[in-house]
Amino acid sequence: MDPRKIKKEIKIELLPCLVCNTPFFMSYNSHNICWECFWHDDYVPGYHHPDEISGANQMSLNEARENYKNHGISDLKMMEVKERLKRYRVKSVIEPK
Ligand SMILES: [Zn+2]
Repeated sequence: MDPRKIKKEIKIELLPCLVCNTPFFMSYNSHNICWECFWHDDYVPGYHHPDEISGANQMSLNEARENYKNHGISDLKMMEVKERLKRYRVKSVIEPK
């Protein structure tokens, strides 16, 4: 069989970020950080306790959502990092190594 004719489809269903809804996480409680809003996925508050403070984020899910709605990021302290990453990503696309 011609290997070029074999079509492999790998579908990975990503779970949406609880703050910005961007499909990003392979699983919850992953301790990964969303690249869109910088929410640290410790899943402590989850959907059920959105006003509970998340230890990793030092704020509640609802606070993070409010920040994202108003500023495009869950934690305002990470704003500079996000801007830098954005510039880096744009540069990487324009000037690939
Ligand atoms: Zn997010």
